[in-house]
Amino acid sequence: MSSFFELSLKGLQTGLRDSSFTSRELVTDALERIAKFEPHLHAFLYIESEPALRQADEADKRLASGDKQEFPLLGIPIAIKDVLTVEHMPATAGSKILEGFIPPYTATAVKRLQTAGAIVIGKTNTDEFAMGSSTENSAYGLTHNPWDKSRVPGGSSGGSAAAVAARLVPAALGTDTGGSVRQPASYCGVTGLKPTYGRVSRYGLIAFGSSLDCVGVFGRSAEDVAIIFEIMAGPDPSDATSSDTAVRTTKFEKQDLNGIRIGVPKEYFIEGMQAEVQEKIRAAISQLESLGAKIQDVSLAHTEYALPVYYILAPAEASANLARFDGMRYGPRVNANSLFEVFSKTRGEKFGSEVKRRIMLGTYALSAGYYDAYYGQAQKVRTLIKQDFETAFKEVDLIACPSTPRTAFEIGAHAGDPISMYLEDVFTLPASLAGVPGISFPAGFDELGLPIGMQLLAPEFREDLLLQTTHIYQQATEWHKQTPPTFDAEKI
Ligand code: GLN
Repeated sequence: MSSFFELSLKGLQTGLRDSSFTSRELVTDALERIAKFEPHLHAFLYIESEPALRQADEADKRLASGDKQEFPLLGIPIAIKDVLTVEHMPATAGSKILEGFIPPYTATAVKRLQTAGAIVIGKTNTDEFAMGSSTENSAYGLTHNPWDKSRVPGGSSGGSAAAVAARLVPAALGTDTGGSVRQPASYCGVTGLKPTYGRVSRYGLIAFGSSLDCVGVFGRSAEDVAIIFEIMAGPDPSDATSSDTAVRTTKFEKQDLNGIRIGVPKEYFIEGMQAEVQEKIRAAISQLESLGAKIQDVSLAHTEYALPVYYILAPAEASANLARFDGMRYGPRVNANSLFEVFSKTRGEKFGSEVKRRIMLGTYALSAGYYDAYYGQAQKVRTLIKQDFETAFKEVDLIACPSTPRTAFEIGAHAGDPISMYLEDVFTLPASLAGVPGISFPAGFDELGLPIGMQLLAPEFREDLLLQTTHIYQQATEWHKQTPPTFDAEKI
């Protein structure tokens, strides 16, 4: 075995429990791989070594003492997207406006993983304030795709997706506002879950679009993702939008898809999408059918409006959320002669251009005289999009479609053309607006060897159905077991 991370998260749990290896060995292996691959990948914005090793030693003591049942993640290293706070670790959200900011508390999602014994080994790269689809908008440099270094890993949670794909950590947290877990999972050939809105607490998540933001997970399989997801899901008194609905645990007992109805929306097979993506997703749908699912056509009629609606609502919410970054409360301050000048200089110098674009779009959409025409109208269409899903889920249990129209694009391909970048999200935005859960997992490769992602969507709070169905598919296929060639061999 070249690395412990050839094992699944479940395999790591078992290995630690039966003393096949120690947490110190595991964390040391992760740190060594990070040291070796990071210069080529740049998945991390912050890496913690000494404290992580100390925690590993504590975990090893606990493992030896037998008091381990309550700590399912005891001694396992994970990585966290740098928009979630971890006490004592810098939190930048990929922005210069938060450079040097150390948050005084830990996000609930992260805290629950730590309470279960996980060791946070570092914070991963992200587009600034999670605005982007490639990590090229990070103020601290972009992340490379482990399958092809000349390509982006997707975004905004590109650092977490790349870290899992390159086997630097067995699992990582991301966030998904309009696709930022599912799209990078697709580009990097890993499994990524965006839970139902409100399923995982947003406390400690640096807000982008508060009615859309979801904390999600990257792992190498549905089984691994389920382990992390189920620990962090559930109500939290610190987030009023977190739901009290009971968390359904996934049993992974079913072997086939008998009795499962899967809808295929024609609106997700559009002109201009990469032919191989279309082909491989159709093949994956046939595979689901041969596993017992009943496949039928469904219509999500308002799909084409999701993109314009999202790009009004998300910037509108962002413009309000980002008002707090003024040089007074967090991060660096650019000094000037008046308070107004301090605000405008700090924001002018420290925000990147995509963030400024969103603030301007959002402020405009919310301004007097335009509110009804833009924000109000977009809210109404959002309801129609949500209703499309409600109608479809009366007929089917799940929806299957591609995660993205194309595989990972070249670094710089969308430079200077924000609209063409926004189009990367056409297949992920509708579920975000509807608040329903989605998962992306590898379903093949294109002729360049780049992963193709399949997306499954489910009704609210049916993450169990997504995870179970993905697991059954993953038992029958080998796509999720492929490793990026450059990171497998000792080429670099
Ligand atoms: N790419 C989309 C955007 O730039 C979605 C980002 C996200 O989900 N955080 O807004």
